[in-house]
Amino acid sequence: MSMASSAACEITFTHLPHPAPTPAEVRAQVLADPGFGTNFSDHMVSIDWSEGPDGAGAWHNATLGPRSPIALDPACAVLHYAQEIFEGLKAYRQKDGGVALFRPEANAARLNLSARRLAMPELPEAVFIESIRRIVSADRDWIPAGEGASLYLRPFMFASEAFLGVRPAKQYKYVVIASPAGNYFKSGTPAVSIWVSDYTRAAPGGTGAAKCGGNYAASLVPQAEAIERGHDQVVFLDAAEHKWIEELGGMNIYFVFSDGTLVTPSLTGTILPGITRDSLLALARDEGLTVREERYSLDQWRDDAASGKLVETFACGTAAVVTPIGRVAGRQGGFTIGSGGPGQLTQKLKNRLVAIQRGEAADPHGWMMQL
Ligand SMILES: *Cc1c(COP(=O)(O)O)cnc(C)c1O
Repeated sequence: MSMASSAACEITFTHLPHPAPTPAEVRAQVLADPGFGTNFSDHMVSIDWSEGPDGAGAWHNATLGPRSPIALDPACAVLHYAQEIFEGLKAYRQKDGGVALFRPEANAARLNLSARRLAMPELPEAVFIESIRRIVSADRDWIPAGEGASLYLRPFMFASEAFLGVRPAKQYKYVVIASPAGNYFKSGTPAVSIWVSDYTRAAPGGTGAAKCGGNYAASLVPQAEAIERGHDQVVFLDAAEHKWIEELGGMNIYFVFSDGTLVTPSLTGTILPGITRDSLLALARDEGLTVREERYSLDQWRDDAASGKLVETFACGTAAVVTPIGRVAGRQGGFTIGSGGPGQLTQKLKNRLVAIQRGEAADPHGWMMQL
């Protein structure tokens, strides 16, 4: 066992050597066609938090070791009351052969925003960044090289205390795993069809702005309904009036108008503050485009698509980056956006973002963290 510490972060990581890492030829097979979310690297990071008798808590037991199952007591709080939050970010191979992360401090900040809403302890940003650095450097060979490929990182935190009372737990586990990811859409980016759900994802005062597993559990039936009806994804309206477009199950949404203006729903507390959403706001403004954060209704969307005032719509998030939306359907019927295929501005913004992430274009906002 070797001990290592970092100047950037006040916690000491223990490194447990891997007894049997994946053989290079097996790994090469996986990386040739990694898919999404089904293959995993050799390592994981875990850090524990517990509350002491004085009521104060601390992070301890930071470990980088072999990826392995986690033993949980059947009374473990997360299994009963769903105190769980997560993040998603990617490590990208750079044009120059290096490896870089995209805005990891934004993920660190958002994890803590989610933690506060779910009554969980915050993880110091430097510890979050260090945990990501450690797993990426241990699993550097797991980063696929192909176009649109990356090593998807999944940091998450859950209540690990064995206790059935209803109160914030006094023990938590923070874990990071890594999964090689291929190009989400192999041949370019086809436009998807979306279903306007009658279910709501988030209500005012609820957990819509937190990245918590519970929000996803609640979105599975609406998503399954969309698929059953022949669509690819679901889009949710606001809970209060069932009128305003909020977001997809796991992606934010942008509307593009014929005068070059963009609109994305404002962060009202019921929408997840996407880092891709925020980055595209900046990139669109760099292009000299007008971007407004404001509410936009389903009725307006349908009318504007019919009149030609609205020419493109796309969804955005870390996993698929930018996804054009070609067709929308709901109880009141359906409509097509533009030609029904991927739009020009959608593709241009996607290319801009991907070029920065790959180290192929200048990084004017200082988003990339080289490892
Ligand atoms: C993670 C997530 C997004 C996208 O966020 P990114 O930071 O861009 O990946 C959008 N909506 C929901 C509900 C999410 O969970």
